[in-house]
Amino acid sequence: MNAPTSMGARPPHLLDFQDWTPERLHAILDNADTMLQVLDRPVKKVPALQGLTVCNAFFENSTRTRTSFELAARRMSADVLTFAAGASSVSKGESLRDTLEVLTSYKVDAYIVRHHAAGAAHLVARYSGKPVINAGDGRRAHPTQALLDAYTIRQEYGSLEGKKVAILGDVRHSRVARSNAELLPKLGAQVVLCGPATLLPPGLAQMPGVTLTTDPKEAVRGAHAVMALRLQRERMSGGFLGSLQEYADTYQVNDTLLKEAESGAIVLHPGPMNRDLEISSDAADGPQSRILKQVENGQAIRMSVLYHLLVGRN
Ligand code: ASP
Repeated sequence: MNAPTSMGARPPHLLDFQDWTPERLHAILDNADTMLQVLDRPVKKVPALQGLTVCNAFFENSTRTRTSFELAARRMSADVLTFAAGASSVSKGESLRDTLEVLTSYKVDAYIVRHHAAGAAHLVARYSGKPVINAGDGRRAHPTQALLDAYTIRQEYGSLEGKKVAILGDVRHSRVARSNAELLPKLGAQVVLCGPATLLPPGLAQMPGVTLTTDPKEAVRGAHAVMALRLQRERMSGGFLGSLQEYADTYQVNDTLLKEAESGAIVLHPGPMNRDLEISSDAADGPQSRILKQVENGQAIRMSVLYHLLVGRN
């Protein structure tokens, strides 16, 4: 099952999308359809990961990603070891390497890693020799969030081919924006990243299928999906914004801005939301919002990713 096929060789990890062919990415999305059906059954469990132990290693806070990975692994009958740094010896100064040595001695079969440092998931992959899923590393990548975003858009339109996706807000500090900018063009969509110049790194324009603008109306015009990003104040060290009010007045995703988009365009947010800052409550709770759908789809996508990485691997 690890031999190269028409989809390309199966990558051992999901750290970002560099080694993933569009065919394999489509297979993950297709398989999520099956997982959603499992989640609709009275007994929401399949034996696919029976006998395997999955470690949920969260060195940074999370609500949606941690709970949905935990449920996804349990729904597939894996044993789950959940590790939260705040409640561990990491808060006493233990290094990532020493913590990993402890986890490795439990004979864990796969790691799901969230860490504030970019590259931490790569380090776990190298050190543990086991499949690793990056659940967010610094501002670098959050691949399962991008997959569930792609899945939610595909669910709406049947395909990502030729779709325009506008992503607005704190692009600079957002791993969600980077992962979506890497993934969506591979699946045929066009991505426009938008925010104040201080929060919009010009280098991202080098990515295929990605354009940048500081003009929110231009970004949203004709878009099929409009995603608001949280202002990541925990990652900001300098004065990136004049004032929050000024930011909201210009870049907030709200009903007025949505008028520029394709009619019926869907509204996305990776959560957690700062309501009435980057997104208005009307847009977050309105008929175009798919924010709770994203959460629902997240579990199915994570089941599908676990399946792809773990089932049939010796
Ligand atoms: N939950 C997402 C992340 O972990 C987005 C955010 O925190 O704003 O990157």
